[in-house]
Amino acid sequence: MLPPQPGQAIRVEREPGLIGIAYMLRPSSEGGVRITASGPDALPDIDPGYIATYRDRATSVDIVRAVRRLFAARPLEKWIEHETAPGGGVQTSQEIIDTGLRTGSAGYHAIGTAAMGPNDDDVVDSRLRVRGVSGLRVVDASVLPIMVSGNLHGPVLAMAWRAADFILDDA
Ligand SMILES: Cc1cc2nc3c(=O)[nH]c(=O)nc-3n(C[C@H](O)[C@H](O)[C@H](O)COP(=O)(O)OP(=O)(O)OC[C@H]3O[C@@H](n4cnc5c(N)ncnc54)[C@H](O)[C@@H]3O)c2cc1C
Repeated sequence: MLPPQPGQAIRVEREPGLIGIAYMLRPSSEGGVRITASGPDALPDIDPGYIATYRDRATSVDIVRAVRRLFAARPLEKWIEHETAPGGGVQTSQEIIDTGLRTGSAGYHAIGTAAMGPNDDDVVDSRLRVRGVSGLRVVDASVLPIMVSGNLHGPVLAMAWRAADFILDDA
């Protein structure tokens, strides 16, 4: 798979090859979603905040180097002729970070825009009720206050199951 270019669909390599995808499960960087106007049609301002922290940048570099070590070890190494992405010319930590920001992609595991928590200014409580608005719950990935160690589809389904119990209990 060739690195995606902004605004373009994924392009597949012309030659047969091997693909390895690796990503951080618990990034510490935070982005944000901000309302830009009072009307419902106004587009929000979304800042993904990709690899903004030192820890996430260091981990990203480690990930690329770990995958390279894997592909350079037996028995895989005999099948590898060259690396197309990010490419053998991308070596220093800064080059890896810059290339990742330019051509890397995210896992689409956004969370936390209506985070659950115990404090008065946390959006939902532990039964997913929106503080300050009666009869309203949020049941989706936005309530997760921290990232889970895995993908989000399963956790969201489990949360919906729990939420159904809360709603029935409180009915
Ligand atoms: C390309 C991609 C690949 C992914 N791959 C995986 C994977 O392999 N494994 C995995 O575990 N997770 C994966 N995820 C992540 C996972 O799909 C999401 O984290 C999960 O679906 C989030 O669930 P949700 O209920 O919070 O939001 P969503 O699943 O996005 O549900 C939101 C729903 O609200 C509806 N909606 C929006 N606005 C309104 C409105 N105004 N009125 C009424 N309805 C509205 C939408 O149509 C949608 O049905 C992937 C995500 C993407 C984008």
